[in-house]
Amino acid sequence: MDVTPILDKLNDAQRQAVTAAAEPTLVIAGAGSGKTRVLVHRAAWLIDVEGISPQSLLAVTFTNKAAAEMRGRIESLLNVPVQHLWIGTFHGLAHRMLRRHWREAGLPQNFQIIDADDQLRLIKRLLKNLEIDDSRWVPKEIQWFINAQKDEGLRPQHLDDENDPNRRQMISFYQSYEEICQRGGLVDFAELLLRAHELLRDNGELLQHYRRRFQHLLVDEFQDTNAIQYAWLRLLAGDTGVPFVVGDDDQSIYRWRGARVEHIQRFQKDFPGTRIIKLEQNYRSTATILNAANALIANNHSRMGKNLWTEESVGETIKVYSAYNERDEADFVIGRLRDWIAQGNARADAAVLYRSNAQSRVLEEGLINARIPYRVYGGLRFFERAEIKDALAYLRLISNRDDDSAFERVVNKPTRGIGARTVEMMRSYTRANACSMWRAAGTIASGDLNGRAANAVNAFMSLIERMARETRGLSLHDQVDHVIRVSTLLDFFKKDKGEKGETRVENLLELVSAAKSFEPDPAEEMAPLDEFLSHAALEAGEGQADAWEDCVQLMTMHSAKGLEFPLVFMCGMEEGLFPHQRSIADPDGLEEERRLCYVGITRAKQTLYISYAEQRRLHGVDNYAQPSRFIAEIPDECIEEIRPRVQVSRPLRSPSPMRRKNRSVAPGNELGIHLGQRVRHSKFGDGVILNCEGQGAHARVEVNFETAGTKWLVLSYANLDLM
Ligand code: ATP
Ligand code: MG
Repeated sequence: MDVTPILDKLNDAQRQAVTAAAEPTLVIAGAGSGKTRVLVHRAAWLIDVEGISPQSLLAVTFTNKAAAEMRGRIESLLNVPVQHLWIGTFHGLAHRMLRRHWREAGLPQNFQIIDADDQLRLIKRLLKNLEIDDSRWVPKEIQWFINAQKDEGLRPQHLDDENDPNRRQMISFYQSYEEICQRGGLVDFAELLLRAHELLRDNGELLQHYRRRFQHLLVDEFQDTNAIQYAWLRLLAGDTGVPFVVGDDDQSIYRWRGARVEHIQRFQKDFPGTRIIKLEQNYRSTATILNAANALIANNHSRMGKNLWTEESVGETIKVYSAYNERDEADFVIGRLRDWIAQGNARADAAVLYRSNAQSRVLEEGLINARIPYRVYGGLRFFERAEIKDALAYLRLISNRDDDSAFERVVNKPTRGIGARTVEMMRSYTRANACSMWRAAGTIASGDLNGRAANAVNAFMSLIERMARETRGLSLHDQVDHVIRVSTLLDFFKKDKGEKGETRVENLLELVSAAKSFEPDPAEEMAPLDEFLSHAALEAGEGQADAWEDCVQLMTMHSAKGLEFPLVFMCGMEEGLFPHQRSIADPDGLEEERRLCYVGITRAKQTLYISYAEQRRLHGVDNYAQPSRFIAEIPDECIEEIRPRVQVSRPLRSPSPMRRKNRSVAPGNELGIHLGQRVRHSKFGDGVILNCEGQGAHARVEVNFETAGTKWLVLSYANLDLM
């Protein structure tokens, strides 16, 4: 057999890993050393050379996008399509198992997945139902508590209240929350994993079946598995399965969500005789970028320690830009992006990374103004937009009348005269009778409610029944199309004349196209509508509808894991933002932030820009921060500071005022500006300087213009002529 294509372009260590005997194997290596590549080639090798059936492989990757890419790469290596390959995220694979074995898992056949937002609403409603003050019990904290327990594999009955009344209350919330979910057939993200674990643990035959089936378990980004994911893998592998996992302890960035880097050690204990392979050559980045990353991560103490080297040339220095504020930072990024695109580069080869989602808005505004197409991973994603969730809620009700969270979302949307009091009556009925809102609505509409309210409720219920009837047998996209019209959601948003209404209408229509291009997986054996709804819930986190367009990529550092780009910007490198405020005082938290920074830097192949703002408005508050300590941890020779060009025409006493940034001079003085000075501005005309503050590139002046009134201007941008 010709094995060249599979072993081609692999170094010795990589080849060893790809062709390793069927024994537990741990590949532990730094960023860009080819771990993911090894995993793909390993799968192809097993199928093509070892003659393993694709059906007996299970591959776990970190995102759906990565899974799709892996499938594509395996297919192109093998030159044949690989159907029936179980490849996906932990959540995706767990979901698939639960769909197949819903009965054994104790779920209704048409169970629905709820995302974090639905989950939070459900908890809020629960508090209301229990008549509990939500200022004392913060819904988000309850959500956090519940998910953390599930991530550790714990049900309420496993929890000890430790004689702590707070904890006792939390456990009781968890218990009530579980009951509501069970009643409505609702499954949150953490539940997917927990239930898939219990499914195998409690069903011996099923476990035997899957153990026999999956001989090879391949896992990417192993350092970020949480307890329940690891337990699921461990269970599935048993004593006969061959786990092959790749990871990098320096890139463990989800500790805050329950990931345990200790699983790397645990693995070696659980699978005695594990073969460990280290990869040390980095193929991704220039030597400068790699040196910067190596030096940075060397500041962490809890490391396994690795040596990464490259044959690549030194390449460009890393450019560090000190911005006056977040807008200035965005302008800078956009200017560089413009140059990049003008040079004929693909937009998709450029990524703008930030620590927190909220930073994207200013960047987005700038990109929109500059007419540069972009795409945000994370943030407000298509399937999370309000109008889309409204439409999906109708679809969910069609599929499952007992879905309370969908019911509450649209019972009075668009408004149909079902007031808060009526809904409250339904809620108390559900409490008293442990039933769904749908059942409650039916009962009280024919009893307790007055004529008008009862009519409104009946009209809503018959609308849902009618939609269910009329969409039966239609193709998926016709179903969606029908529902957005008959529900009158489309008309409702059309009447909203503002830009928002227009966007919402466009998004609803986009949902129809999304349904049209949705390809049900024949292996899933479920109704296309249910599959589409699950897809919407599962994929919500990953990118937007216009994925095919060549556009600049915006994302958090967390979502950049595993990806690579020729051009990378890391924005908002300020103390308090990155490292994040809540981690600064906690040594472990700080190390995790540093690993995240390591992830960010190592995404760049050729060019890396780092920027920070002296002043930043975030969540409506102005912050003044120091540059991130992480910048100082990068060796000087890797870095070049770039400054905004000063455009004050004359007279400049100092040839290079920027160099004197740290010297204490009276504001503005270094530029030869004094209070009372007359200046001319190209747009605002003539005026007098009233006030100066700040220094260097960020010196600002307040000018009283004769016709335009008083304005604050940034000297380095204002282009003032001194008169
Ligand atoms: P990360 O830790 O960021 O997930 P990784 O270890 O998974 O990185 P890959 O993404 O697999 O690394 O590889 C990094 C880059 O190097 C990819 O572009 C890959 O194609 C390339 N590469 C890996 N090994 C080789 C090789 N032997 N020859 C040429 N290119 C390689
Ligand atoms: Mg990888």
